[in-house]
Amino acid sequence: MNERVLFTEKEISENLDKLANQIETYISTLPENEQDKIIFIGLLTGCIHFVSDLTKKVESDHKLAFMKASSYINNKRGSLTIDENIPTVKDHHVIVLDDICDSGNTLNAVVNKLLEHKPLSVKTCVLVNKILPEKSHTPDYTVFNINDVFIYGYGLDYDEYKRNLRDIRIKID
Ligand code: 5GP
Ligand code: MG
Repeated sequence: MNERVLFTEKEISENLDKLANQIETYISTLPENEQDKIIFIGLLTGCIHFVSDLTKKVESDHKLAFMKASSYINNKRGSLTIDENIPTVKDHHVIVLDDICDSGNTLNAVVNKLLEHKPLSVKTCVLVNKILPEKSHTPDYTVFNINDVFIYGYGLDYDEYKRNLRDIRIKID
């Protein structure tokens, strides 16, 4: 397979340092008695390396949980399923972490589902955002913006493989 590295391991790590700083700044703007009521929720499976690397760089106290959301079947956009096991978010500021925001349907549905459980607030944060003319959700925090291409590596799959890559790649013909 011919492929090209789009974002290197070093670029990812350096940008996660910046994102962690931005998140710390956001947390510091919250009322003092709410600054430890933070829960990160990663959307499995693509988020694994992003969540692991980012949360290690965030020094303020926080909880960590996961939800399962899937929408891609054989590299094509498919129907969306979100599991019903919602972490306890009541009275917490939630920061949802996902690998990539494409149509925005996943994040839009996850945010709406979480809001039913009365959190103090919900923010969304993605490693990669695809720039599309119409999206149902735009993340609050984005590390990289890309055009409408299919990428894999660093948690993102290629037919369920390649999640182990340390960088993010794109297939070329
Ligand atoms: P959305 O609901 O925003 O259309 O899609 C979000 C989900 O689709 C992501 O969490 C991710 O699992 C999957 N996805 C979207 N674009 C890509 C891509 O370019 N590569 C891979 N591997 N997954 C993608
Ligand atoms: Mg996903």
